[in-house]
Amino acid sequence: MAWGATGWPWTGCGENPMRESFLRLALPNKGRLRDPALRLLREAGLSFEQTDRALSVSVRNAAIELLFVRTEDVVELVTDGVADLGISGLDLIEESGTKCNRVRVLLRLGFGRCELTVAVPADAARDRPEDFCGLRIATSHPNLTEQFFARHGVTVDIVRLRGSVEVAPKLGVADAVADLVSTGSTMLVNGLRPVLPVLSSEAVLVGRSSDLSNRMEFETVTTAIESVLAGRRRRYLLLNAPEETLQDITELIPGLEAPTVVPLAEDGMVAIHSVVERDEVWNLLPRLRAAGGRDILVLPIGQLVP
Ligand code: AMP
Repeated sequence: MAWGATGWPWTGCGENPMRESFLRLALPNKGRLRDPALRLLREAGLSFEQTDRALSVSVRNAAIELLFVRTEDVVELVTDGVADLGISGLDLIEESGTKCNRVRVLLRLGFGRCELTVAVPADAARDRPEDFCGLRIATSHPNLTEQFFARHGVTVDIVRLRGSVEVAPKLGVADAVADLVSTGSTMLVNGLRPVLPVLSSEAVLVGRSSDLSNRMEFETVTTAIESVLAGRRRRYLLLNAPEETLQDITELIPGLEAPTVVPLAEDGMVAIHSVVERDEVWNLLPRLRAAGGRDILVLPIGQLVP
């Protein structure tokens, strides 16, 4: 089922005639991708209020309407033209199969990371695709699982389940599972051993392939979201140092560009500002201090557009 622009069902193909000039962005209305997706949009500068019941919400400061739908419906709404953009899991986009080439991944969003993985009961000695020939595999990703084994020339018997995939071997309805794993603890609790990785997934922003060339608005959205993701990977570093240590210190700082150096009121002292990779800060701090750096501040970056 698809939705029309004002909430009624839209069952036509291709472009929805009710679509107005503002963008519609489909988002998960619950589940593990919802809160990080909303946080990302707010950090990107969109201002909106969201109540748990609202199906759609207008953004106050941009011509964007947010549609809150089930995570697994996002790809269909974008494909049908009800939404222009959507946020969902890459696994669900890929699982949707033929629709895939009508929807393009615009950005990987860095949250909701997980792996679609084939797992077996801990005591089962099956590690290679060919060990699964003719076996029953429980999964809510039947297309990806079947394609994975087919690529290895192996035919399996797919048992389609919507949830609780990991209990299927215990219940005797399957010999193995293909399920999403992030920490691995659910598999462990259910006595399963992950053996074959099928797909690495994370949340993604998608748009309809046919729309992408002529939508400047898409670029506004992707630039804003990308700037948040770029900011999250980095930190703004400020420190004071004696002028004679400047060269040693700037050599330590692998900034975006050469650092900004500002003379301080105190004679012979400078302030150095730079943008550094978040993951390098841990090792950088003691080295900066040893090189003469003082009063070091490390600040988060809201958005960064290089
Ligand atoms: P939801 O069912 O709305 O909570 O969202 C499910 C989506 O969250 C999946 O399709 C994945 O893209 C993503 N995800 C991330 N980690 C996991 C996990 N450990 N188990 C299930 N889904 C996950």
